[in-house]
Amino acid sequence: MQAFDAHNHLQKGGTTPPNFACAPSATCEADWKVLEEMANGSPLQIFPGYGIHPWWAGTETPGWEERLKDLLAKNYGAFIGESGLDGYRATRVRGPGFTSQISILRPQLRLAKTLDRPIVLHCVRAWDELRECLQEESVRHFAIHRFKGSPEMASEIMQLGGYISVHLDTLYNRSSSNSIKWMPRSRILVETDWDGPRVEGRPMEEEIGEVLRQLAVIWDMTVEATARATLRNAKEFYRIL
Ligand SMILES: [Zn+2]
Repeated sequence: MQAFDAHNHLQKGGTTPPNFACAPSATCEADWKVLEEMANGSPLQIFPGYGIHPWWAGTETPGWEERLKDLLAKNYGAFIGESGLDGYRATRVRGPGFTSQISILRPQLRLAKTLDRPIVLHCVRAWDELRECLQEESVRHFAIHRFKGSPEMASEIMQLGGYISVHLDTLYNRSSSNSIKWMPRSRILVETDWDGPRVEGRPMEEEIGEVLRQLAVIWDMTVEATARATLRNAKEFYRIL
């Protein structure tokens, strides 16, 4: 199948690689080794990202930055992800709060900058804070995944040089599906955010197929052409030759 799932967590949802290319992201340190092995076993299909997700802020262990840097240096094609900020979680009693989230986000942004790697970012109710961090760390090669934002947010992402990764949630939400209509198509990726079936028994192939079908309607293109275009964009974003 010709498609590129630009964001998922394959390491959490069973280890059978799908029959299309994908870029699974780590969420915590424990994922790094698992993903490295998966990617080594399937080098033409699986392009891994290493990082720490904001929900896991506070679980990092001493020396994590150095280990992440070494891992990235060793895996030349790897990107950084999943990182980001979650303003909803930050308000929950059990956190983690923004201070803790930002304390792991900044080093990941700096690594993206110094090693010149793409970075995939989670952003829930935190665009102002995330935009500030991106600007201060001068990071331009980033993607906001599972985008659910306003047209203003979409256009700011564009201006900063970023990509938007489209999930079914993006398309089922009127504001975010409207936002992506006006974006340059070359900056759009598609994703499942897979960490196991959302609907009992539904395979990843159907999940990505549904995203492509819905996006094809918005773009007024065939599903095949939409799959080809988003595959090309993903290769561009992840710098896959
Ligand atoms: Zn994710």
